[in-house]
Amino acid sequence: MRGGRAAGVRLAGGEEIKARVVVSNLDVRRTFLETVAPKHLPPEFLAQVRRFKIRGSSGKLNIALDGLPHFPAIPHGSPCTRGDMHVTDTIDMLERAYDDWKEGRWSRAPYIDMLIPSQIDPTMAPNGKHYMSVFVQYCPYKLADGEWTPQKRQAFGDTVIDTIARHSPDFKDLILHAEIRTPHEIEAEVGLTEGNIFQGELTFDQLLFNRPIPGYAQYRAPVRGMYMCGASTHPGGGVMGAPGANAASAILRDLRLAQST
Ligand SMILES: Cc1cc2nc3c(=O)[nH]c(=O)nc-3n(C[C@H](O)[C@H](O)[C@H](O)COP(=O)(O)OP(=O)(O)OC[C@H]3O[C@@H](n4cnc5c(N)ncnc54)[C@H](O)[C@@H]3O)c2cc1C
Repeated sequence: MRGGRAAGVRLAGGEEIKARVVVSNLDVRRTFLETVAPKHLPPEFLAQVRRFKIRGSSGKLNIALDGLPHFPAIPHGSPCTRGDMHVTDTIDMLERAYDDWKEGRWSRAPYIDMLIPSQIDPTMAPNGKHYMSVFVQYCPYKLADGEWTPQKRQAFGDTVIDTIARHSPDFKDLILHAEIRTPHEIEAEVGLTEGNIFQGELTFDQLLFNRPIPGYAQYRAPVRGMYMCGASTHPGGGVMGAPGANAASAILRDLRLAQST
């Protein structure tokens, strides 16, 4: 900050990058609680930032397979295995899966969203082998029965593998390696707070003109020259780039205004 406006970024190693405009795609809490000194921000704004909800709810498995698993429910040779396969069963099961998360444990019967992209791009795995990406809901960041341990992480992974195996009898035999990621690892490895995939919950109170917080939904930070462009902003997370596109137009509008005055 210089002269009451954002003047650049200082990296952890001390290097300073001067800039006329600073744009953050860190979530709103990291942006304003970790990278800007509180004295530069209005206290009521900071209070709202602290209240922004970012609870982790999903896990991930990356699985190396010795071959393509068979799913008896899908006809042999069907192109369906090349798409996004889900284990959802019933609405009731989804509700119970969410109940588990609310009570601080991973879903005993989880919702699973799995892809085998090596069928489309064979360079992702050695010849004849496959890679499976498994997205899992729900998995809490904080467990009711204490800290995450390697044993609990493995038990979470086993729950997911058992669920897939119910739909694919040869699945377990084909597993060469499974990398299991809880919200904890996602936070530690990717820098995503609580491993929340949308940089903040997409609940009604945090949507549209309230995202990330009321009064600041137009991508502008309360300091001049600083903007937000990540999934914490409207319309939230998802592979569509809309927060970035909206932020870019707000920035260009301000720069043009500054030029014309
Ligand atoms: C397991 C998983 C599955 C997902 N699946 C889907 C899906 O199927 N479909 C979909 O639409 N979306 C999905 N998402 C969500 C999607 O990935 C995000 O919405 C999107 O990546 C958000 O982009 P972003 O640029 O706003 O933020 P991010 O991609 O989160 O980028 C923020 C960057 O800031 C860095 N950072 C954090 N703190 C600091 C700091 N203090 N200093 C410097 N750098 C920092 C981070 O390391 C990261 O590189 C998934 C996410 C996860 C984790």
